[in-house]
Formats: sequence, structure tokens, C-alpha cells
Amino acid sequence: MNCSFRIGHGYDCHRLAPPPEGGPLVLGGLHLNHTVGPVAHSDGDALLHAVTDAVLGALALDDLGTQFPDSDEQWSGVSSKVFLSRAIQQIHEAGWRVANVDATVLLERPRLSPYRTELRQEMAQLLNIEPECVNIKGKSGEGLGPVGEGVLVEVHAVALLHKGD
Ligand SMILES: [Zn+2]
Repeated sequence: MNCSFRIGHGYDCHRLAPPPEGGPLVLGGLHLNHTVGPVAHSDGDALLHAVTDAVLGALALDDLGTQFPDSDEQWSGVSSKVFLSRAIQQIHEAGWRVANVDATVLLERPRLSPYRTELRQEMAQLLNIEPECVNIKGKSGEGLGPVGEGVLVEVHAVALLHKGD
């Protein structure tokens, strides 16, 4: 197959709980100040997990859970930046680059808008692209369902890859 573009989709969710069950709320590598955080084996960064799966999915590579299984102690408490960096390394080695990433974060609180610029910069650095090529949207659950009740964070992401520079 000879094509110069590939698209990938990623999804992730984590249950949110007060400490000590929930850890600090980390999204896109940033620590957000909040009273509840993800219950997870790693740092529970749902944004990085969804984007990592989108990047890996674009090239039909093994997904996050297969490459970095939560049954493996070496990934316990590790920063999810490591997972995304490794995914980026894999696509670069195969001759691909990220063109752009678009993600939607479903989170009741805190609102993401104050963090949006910093989030895009942080994600752009990890993806090795310009911040203009990264979009992150926050959505509330309108008070309904587990997102609306503040006990779940969900992230949907798509990544477009292109071949060459
Ligand atoms: Zn996750």
C-alpha cells in the first residue's frame, strides 16, 4: 500500500476519586489543581493515553495497553509522556510525522479553558509539531452521567500522520 497520509483514533477514560485512591489530576502532562484525580496504574493521563493510541492507531501499531501493559510493574506510576514519546519515536523510525492532533476532553471540573494554551504547547513539544497543529477542546457533561457527576474523565482524539518532512 502506498499512501502518504494515515489517520488514527484514540479513546481513554479514567475514574476520578479523592486521594488517596485518586492521584493528582494530570492531563496532557500538566498538573491541574483539583480535589479529585484519576484512579490508575500509571499517572492516569487520559489525554496523553488517547493521543498515544491515536498516533499508534494511525500506523496500525500495537496499542498503548499492549505495549505498556498495566500488569507490568515497570510502568507503575510512570509519566505518560514516556508512552507518547515512545509512540512518536516509533512513527519517526517508520518515516512518518504527525501533521495535526485534535482532542476532546470530557471533564466536568475544572474547566480546561484557562489551561488551553499551556496544554497545546506541552502537547506540541511531545508530538514534535507546532502548537498551531494541536487542538484541545474541553466539554462538560452538563451535570449528567458519570462525567457530569465528576467521577469520570473521557478523552477522544484523532491524529493525522504524513510521510516525510
Ligand atoms: Zn488511560
